Amino acid sequence: MAAIELTGLSTVYPNGVRAVDELDLSIHDGEFFALLGPSGCGKTTLLRTVAGLEQAASGTVALGERDVTRTEAGKRGVAMVFQDYALFPHMTVAQNIAYPLRVRRASKQAQRDAAESTSAGLGLAGLLERRPGQLSGGQQQRVALARAMAMSAEVLLLDEPLSNLDARLRLEARTFLKRLQRDLGLTTVFVTHDQAEALALADRIAVMAEGRIRQLGTPKDVFGRP
Ligand code: ADP
Ligand code: ADP
Repeated sequence: MAAIELTGLSTVYPNGVRAVDELDLSIHDGEFFALLGPSGCGKTTLLRTVAGLEQAASGTVALGERDVTRTEAGKRGVAMVFQDYALFPHMTVAQNIAYPLRVRRASKQAQRDAAESTSAGLGLAGLLERRPGQLSGGQQQRVALARAMAMSAEVLLLDEPLSNLDARLRLEARTFLKRLQRDLGLTTVFVTHDQAEALALADRIAVMAEGRIRQLGTPKDVFGRP
């Protein structure tokens, strides 16, 4: 069974822009899937529609056996990491990580546990009391990932999470993301406009253009090399 099944999915903005256009896509359980394509082709909108941050104009979004097309974002079991990480500047790292649990009114202890357990594996253990402004770009990215992990989501959506890092950090973050995904067996959809990044990370790649999928396959299928 597919982890994410999109059928005839369209997303139309109030100004009439059809950013996702009758798109069909099936993403496997545990897959590391890259969405590639030029700026404006609909990658971010597609992720946001899967996450429930945009409403589908038509078609369906299913996660496993659940049709979540009309399910609100917080109840989909999907975690999204935004391009700019969207951390709360006035909160500490620990508070940022625990935020999804606070929203669900989890106990203080559960919030502390989540912050401690997710941060340890991400090299953030010593930084829990800092604020985002006191962290490097790479560290902020890890906090955003830790926050996504704290949601115990089964599906992780990453919107160009490496684009704000310098070349060296980006390489490190790639290796790190790949390992994380392998260890946790998370289904991960990764948006990028960088071919090399898609090649390095993805089990399969979809190339988008104008709200549709133009090409779909393994890196070898799409680029003619592994
Ligand atoms: P990508 O992530 O591939 O750069 P987007 O999903 O951001 O593409 O954008 C797809 C199309 O939808 C573009 O034409 C963009 O201008 C438009 N778009 C994105 N967000 C909005 C919005 N909030 N309102 C109206 N149009 C939007
Ligand atoms: P990306 O290419 O990474 O998806 P953009 O720079 O295109 O991001 O868009 C940044 C923000 O502006 C997003 O929140 C997007 O929803 C919004 N946006 C993009 N295009 C439009 C548009 N035509 N009208 C209104 N908002 C837009």
